[in-house]
Amino acid sequence: MSETTKDAAPKKLGDTRPNHAEQRARSKLPCLPEAWRVVKWRVLGKSGDAVEFTFQESRMKTLKSGPNRGKERREWFGPERSAIVTDSEERAEFARYERETGNCGVCGDTGQEWMGWSRVNGDRYRPCVRCTATGKAPAK
Ligand SMILES: [Zn+2]
Repeated sequence: MSETTKDAAPKKLGDTRPNHAEQRARSKLPCLPEAWRVVKWRVLGKSGDAVEFTFQESRMKTLKSGPNRGKERREWFGPERSAIVTDSEERAEFARYERETGNCGVCGDTGQEWMGWSRVNGDRYRPCVRCTATGKAPAK
């Protein structure tokens, strides 16, 4: 079992690229409100072949005092709900997404794939290798 990270997700929250593992986790939680977000996730097992996602309701709160006064911060509240997604389930969801949407499973019709994050520059992207930046699922 590795560390649990608060306020983190495999991809940045708000990123429009599909997160197949998160999507699969959502489908395992009936009636999970769309607005609930991943509050934490952790990799299970030494080989990292499963991920547990935990969802929770949140809202943005404007800080009223302190050095960050006026800035918005996400506040989590209420019960948590979790689901475990294995590697093969994630791959199946990837295939389902491409089959049903016709979009590239990596970049989700944006033509740009995520390549990393840095504190200075934030998220970085490059032309998607899988679909050669077309955004469409490659023909088999
Ligand atoms: Zn792509």
